[in-house]
Amino acid sequence: MIPRDHRSRPIGRRDFLQLAAAGLAASAVPKALGSFGQAEPNRVDLPPLHDTKVEAKERTPGPSLAPSERVGFAVVGLGHLALGQVLPAFGNSKYARPVALVSGHRSKALKVAAQYGIGEKAIYDYSTFERMVDNPEIKVVYVILPNSMHAEYTIRAARIGKHVLCEKPMAVSVGEAERMIEACGAARVKLMLGYRSQYEPMDRAIVRMVGEGKLGRPLHFVSSNSQDEGDPGQWRLNRAMAGGGPLVDVGIYCINAARFLTGEEPTDVVAQTQQLPNDPRFREVESAVEFLLRFPSGFSAACNASYDCHRSQFFRLECSDGWAEMNPAFAYHGLSLRLGRPVDGVDTVTEVDVEAKDQFALELDHMSSCVLKDRLPHTGGAEGLQDMKIIAATYESARSGQRVPLAAPAPTRGPEPDLEG
Ligand code: NAD
Repeated sequence: MIPRDHRSRPIGRRDFLQLAAAGLAASAVPKALGSFGQAEPNRVDLPPLHDTKVEAKERTPGPSLAPSERVGFAVVGLGHLALGQVLPAFGNSKYARPVALVSGHRSKALKVAAQYGIGEKAIYDYSTFERMVDNPEIKVVYVILPNSMHAEYTIRAARIGKHVLCEKPMAVSVGEAERMIEACGAARVKLMLGYRSQYEPMDRAIVRMVGEGKLGRPLHFVSSNSQDEGDPGQWRLNRAMAGGGPLVDVGIYCINAARFLTGEEPTDVVAQTQQLPNDPRFREVESAVEFLLRFPSGFSAACNASYDCHRSQFFRLECSDGWAEMNPAFAYHGLSLRLGRPVDGVDTVTEVDVEAKDQFALELDHMSSCVLKDRLPHTGGAEGLQDMKIIAATYESARSGQRVPLAAPAPTRGPEPDLEG
């Protein structure tokens, strides 16, 4: 909503120059930029890959790798996300390729394998999972299963020496998340959580602006991630399989965004949940949740998530000198970023076109890059664990009606991703 006394206009050259100063020059292409729109996407100058003098673990990927050089992924679970987003994203990735599938449905797996050039021998099921140890092409196992299966398959993958990329939420309990970290640590394999927003260019642009103080001090974060979950028989509405309702499934995006956009960690949470009566979908999980997180600097995040609402996915980060808003914020496509700031003394709303990228391809490439360069993932196990702790505290607050404190974690993120496509 734009206040009436605000001007709303597409971004101009002056804005572009300001954004350039904020480090956005490479990724933000202003809508009405005309001949100024020559900006290249962000690129990091990387040494060539094919330098035989360099140890494999120190090699740095170049702009794109030949198939034989790419990091091989086994995709575990062939549900909506795997088939609709992740497998197609390999086509947009630069360093990753699918080399194996794990599925309980062999006929489906055969069809998918043929589509992606994966041989029949590289199709596994949940009982033959450990045989992947004999397939050296598989470097990373991507767990895209119902939430209650994340811990088991992450730990099983670690035990056969494979790196793990695991979907959000990390698990269905804090204890499971801790065991996943322990298992990956003991096996000396990498663990990354699929927090795609943290690799998405608009979100990254906001992180940079906040880090450079371009919007002033972060004060308030308002966010919703809601959708209408129709099928009462699905696992997302089963507490044991999902670990909770909209909070764990979609509310986690609001929690994670409040944290990564500001780099702060909450000190406490107060929450309430709703459970629509007489609706067969909500016998086990909440239909909606509202929660308020407080942070040490005085920053706060007011969020809600619902399974009984028309799709609504936005956030607005309000700071002392301006605001950044994404609406939609958490969708796969069609994201939109607006900034509100004074320009020449007049409150001005600008729309910023940041070149769209396939978020899943960016995520796959980050994991591949970490494997190739032997680096810690930006969104590793500690990042997922912290969200699990916040989720647990949020449910505890909703149950008790009390504000629930949260301990300050050690830093949860690995080095900034340097591959933005
Ligand atoms: P889905 O139900 O469409 O797929 C789940 C897959 O797990 C199916 O292939 C199913 O056959 C398999 N499976 C194996 N054992 C099962 C069992 N006992 N019960 C049910 N399914 C079983 O789910 P999805 O939407 O693809 O979600 C999978 C994971 O991905 C979840 O953890 C979810 O939170 C996450 N997800 C992430 C995003 C994102 O944007 N990052 C989006 C959607 C889902």
